[in-house]
Amino acid sequence: MKTCAIVGINWGDEGKGRMVDLIAEDYDVVVRYQGGSNAGHTVINEYGKFALNLIPSGIFRREVINVLGNGTVIDFEHLSMEVDKLRKAGVYISSENLKISDRAMIVFPYHKELDALEEARLKDKKYGSTKRGIAPAYSDKYQKKGIMAGELLYPEYLKNHLRDILEWKNLTLQNVYNSKPYTLDDAMAWLDKYATEFKSHICDTGVLLREAKKNGKSILFEAQLGALRDIDYGIYPYTSSSTPLASYGPIGSGAPDISLDYVIGVVKAYSSCVGEGPFTAEWFNEEAEELRKAGNEYGAATGRPRRVGPIDILATSYGVTVQKADCIALTKMDVLSYMDKIPVCTGYEVDGVELKSFPLTPVLEKAKPIFIEMDGWKTDISGIRKFEELPKEAQEYVLFIEKKINCPVKYVSVGPDRDAIILRGGDE
Ligand code: GDP
Repeated sequence: MKTCAIVGINWGDEGKGRMVDLIAEDYDVVVRYQGGSNAGHTVINEYGKFALNLIPSGIFRREVINVLGNGTVIDFEHLSMEVDKLRKAGVYISSENLKISDRAMIVFPYHKELDALEEARLKDKKYGSTKRGIAPAYSDKYQKKGIMAGELLYPEYLKNHLRDILEWKNLTLQNVYNSKPYTLDDAMAWLDKYATEFKSHICDTGVLLREAKKNGKSILFEAQLGALRDIDYGIYPYTSSSTPLASYGPIGSGAPDISLDYVIGVVKAYSSCVGEGPFTAEWFNEEAEELRKAGNEYGAATGRPRRVGPIDILATSYGVTVQKADCIALTKMDVLSYMDKIPVCTGYEVDGVELKSFPLTPVLEKAKPIFIEMDGWKTDISGIRKFEELPKEAQEYVLFIEKKINCPVKYVSVGPDRDAIILRGGDE
């Protein structure tokens, strides 16, 4: 049966949560395979409006099994808060429908503290971290100084391991940042308080996913962020600390032996970006403010105003390539309805020469956008559900983009609600 990934093609916040919520209906398992509580997948459905930080967007479908894979980093305090919020809204969550990989890394309070301390030290050179401890937790993983969620099931092992790690971690906290050390008692008490309730959720997610596959179940991989924030292929160092690429889906889930059948790349009809780093098509001043307001571009996880600009063909084509997207979900088309003319960034110029491909950060920092303008449609399209019923200019905008990025636009989203979607072509 099918495996599918829903991934971000741009800088994140493309509307992945909304697409997963829509598509999860056809899947038995939904997996988050990277990142941590820094995500903010907005989902609006019969339960209300949510910004899901850690929990997969399949949680609203009662029969779906949701998995936090080994590629994620988990702050149990945050997870506990998120579960409480969802339960209060009537969403069913138990160890049956929310599974946590025994190999996922734990984000401790000291990771969050280090994140904030380092951003403060960097001052105006900061990376724009969400300060949720993600980068310090991933650094520890690769320094082999992390604690796996599965260690919670082996308390003696965990205690000894954590003691050794704190001895090392406190050297940094005290000597580099002049901060307070963490005691083993503090860390164990924090785990007791927030992680204990999740012990029954922890399992070998590889066994679960292989079993699901063997029994003909379908699996949906839900990415956080977008291709341009990928640690290897993004605008390093203004990236996330993990790999939001589709090809990492099976690896970060527990079953690297499972392959992907289909990749849906989510692209916003214009560009937005949270945090620092080069953002070539960026708009400033009133036109930015107008677009930001029209698109409600304020971070779901942090409330930070997002940087905005026209859609960027060069960056989007690069995202399509590295994600190996089979089709595109073009979101927030309705937001562009107020514009007389719709600018499109078709490429970049450096020192008067047009670039042929998306460049490395030092070149990107010097790149100037090349804009063209398309006709706007100046009419509310949020109630339209058929492509042929869109104004001619809106159809042309979609067709132009799909041609330029060389990938078919299969979904056009015209509103945040689950049903505000236009489906083009047949099923995958
Ligand atoms: P994600 O992290 O990729 O899931 O994206 P976010 O949730 O951070 O940002 C997407 C925002 O756009 C959310 O507030 C969604 O409710 C909203 N949204 C998604 N699709 C549409 C759409 O087609 N039209 C409008 N107006 N809003 C949308």
